[in-house]
Amino acid sequence: MLKGIAASNGIVIGKAYVVKETKPELPQHDITPEQREAELERLDRARAVTRQQLEAIRADLAAKAGESEAAIFDAHLMLLDDPMLGEAVVAKINEGRNAEMAVHQAGETFAGMFDAMDDEYMRGRAADVRDICTRWVNNLLGVETGSLGNMTEPAVVFAHDLAPSDTAQMDKTKVLAFVTEIGGRTSHSAIMARSLEIPAVVGVGDLSTVANGDTVIVDGNAGEVIVNPDPAVLAEYQERRRTLEERKEKLRALKDLPAQTPDGKTFVLAANIGTPDDVDSALAYGAEGVGLYRTEFLYMDRADMPTEQEQYQAYRKVLEAFGRLPVIIRTLDIGGDKELPYLKLDRELNPFLGNRAIRLCLSNPGLFKTQLRAILRAGVSGNPWIMLPMVATLDEVRRTKALLREVEAELEAEGIPFTRDYKLGIMIEIPSAAVQADHFAREVDFFSIGTNDLIQYTLAVDRMNEKVSYLYDPFNPAVLRLIEQVIQAGHRHGIFVGMCGEMAGEPLATPLLMAMGLDEFSMSASSIPQVKAVIRSLDIARCRELWQQAQQFTDGSQIRQLMEEALQDIL
Ligand code: PEP
Ligand code: MG
Repeated sequence: MLKGIAASNGIVIGKAYVVKETKPELPQHDITPEQREAELERLDRARAVTRQQLEAIRADLAAKAGESEAAIFDAHLMLLDDPMLGEAVVAKINEGRNAEMAVHQAGETFAGMFDAMDDEYMRGRAADVRDICTRWVNNLLGVETGSLGNMTEPAVVFAHDLAPSDTAQMDKTKVLAFVTEIGGRTSHSAIMARSLEIPAVVGVGDLSTVANGDTVIVDGNAGEVIVNPDPAVLAEYQERRRTLEERKEKLRALKDLPAQTPDGKTFVLAANIGTPDDVDSALAYGAEGVGLYRTEFLYMDRADMPTEQEQYQAYRKVLEAFGRLPVIIRTLDIGGDKELPYLKLDRELNPFLGNRAIRLCLSNPGLFKTQLRAILRAGVSGNPWIMLPMVATLDEVRRTKALLREVEAELEAEGIPFTRDYKLGIMIEIPSAAVQADHFAREVDFFSIGTNDLIQYTLAVDRMNEKVSYLYDPFNPAVLRLIEQVIQAGHRHGIFVGMCGEMAGEPLATPLLMAMGLDEFSMSASSIPQVKAVIRSLDIARCRELWQQAQQFTDGSQIRQLMEEALQDIL
């Protein structure tokens, strides 16, 4: 058995197709100054061909997987035309290098810069640079790029690594799954595998023991690959695969059905999104709104602040897509694990307890007001709910309201269209806000419980530290009790209470939250079908019984076990 990183779900049994490294020999020769002009022309022609190929792959992927996936190739096209790369290649040719060598060497230097970055996502871009440079070199040589063209039968692809353009061109009827020696969960190949729904295991390490034609089992859920399994193992996985397929079919059928219990209680299931690109997938999974739009992504991975206009366009896109369905736009939640280099924030000893989120916004009213202006302007196009992160005191809410009044007056005076028809709510993710929820409920229109942070602060357990992750438990009785108190306090004052932390998408917790009366569950879009399946199978009376039982336990692990047993026929 080979162990790797579970990059894309699903179980597949098939024959192995091992991709050999088919890098053509790179010609290396010096060119004379007289030959330079011709060499530069060859270079440009090959770049044009590369551009056409990438555009074709992009169009094909847009048709197969949607615009948001295809956008990855916009980044490729931009890299291909990046002046820094272009100038570096020309400089090499001017030094007397032939075009193939020039592209290869300049590309390696450029990729090396990405390799050296701290951010995992940016490191992943090194593969994109190498991908386009290989294609460019191949076009100079007149050879085809891509090693999957020769597949004649459906098979599981084994490779050292796959370029995003390989993955994008994969045909699901041929490529049953893929396994690579290197790569991580956030590499583009992995992201694309998930959206094309091709099971994948990456980062497995040495694959030299796998031969063409071997029978293999790929378990994309567990990140495991079994080569030449014995008949008993094979039979076991065939059974598992059947069960998984049946479940998927059943879940797919739920898309347009309401999240309603057999005894008639309805809940709202919404999606958490990071960018307007996530809208298509949210709608495809049947989200009834956005329960958390993490706007900080608009501010990250860039050299300067997004302008009001840029923000306005992003928010409007999401609001328009959801029409009258609510879109909860969370104001900037930066700090903690999320940094913005251009803000030049001081290093803090405890960033999670420091100047983050609403604190940072209130101490930078200019920055905050720009965002509020963009939201109110975009608000004309839909149903905006504004949500404040990391609220600890009532004063923070009141100061934000004052800023909102200012922004409204300014927009009015400037004659710019904007909406006053929005809701204002807060995340409940700090214990002080949870404990004082009744007071907050008089000041705001809704709550959304942010369990990711609420658990971290309630149990004093850093959510990023794997040494204490055993303590990080949504089923901890103190956490559950706090959540129930927040929901009850909200309802006593007639306001809407949702949840947008990961716990909202944890099906084992669903019945408990249903019993507590949570109004809305907001989660990664792909978790919606499973949570809906739980809601549609359990009466509220049964959920209340389970919550009663759960409250007898003093340990999170006992509660989790209770839920596993209660849901074993459903999940
Ligand atoms: C949370 O804390 O639960 C939450 C949804 O916010 P984030 O994960 O962005 O901190
Ligand atoms: Mg949070």
